[in-house]
Amino acid sequence: MKKGIPVIKLEWDGELPTFFCPVCGHTYWSEEASSEEPCKHILYSFISEAPDITIHKKGIEEKFNSLIRQDAVNKSYAWNDESDDIETYCNEELDFDEKVNILAESVDSESAFCLEMTSNGMPCGPVSFGAVIAVDYNVNE
Ligand SMILES: [Zn+2]
Repeated sequence: MKKGIPVIKLEWDGELPTFFCPVCGHTYWSEEASSEEPCKHILYSFISEAPDITIHKKGIEEKFNSLIRQDAVNKSYAWNDESDDIETYCNEELDFDEKVNILAESVDSESAFCLEMTSNGMPCGPVSFGAVIAVDYNVNE
């Protein structure tokens, strides 16, 4: 059985492009506005430079949290309920690719995909910068 949604990797030289939702044309990301409201097709997004993963669909968040806890168990990570939560674990124990893969695995949809855009050599910026956006073509709500 298929696990999760496909991850499509794109490489860019320089700054990342404005991101329009491919379904409805909504502007989700641009240089001027980096955290606009999502349209209903955007499932989640995050960038490599910021710790926050933005999940717009509730079912995905629940699945993601359970996969993260499973990952922690697999790695014999000592989970401490007082100080360790999902976000801390993601930031301290997972690298960018692991986050990309676990998020993709959290989505149960035949009509969704994840774009992973990596920018190399931004002027005045980090050496490498990644942006991840997942889109579902078939959202009925
Ligand atoms: Zn849209």
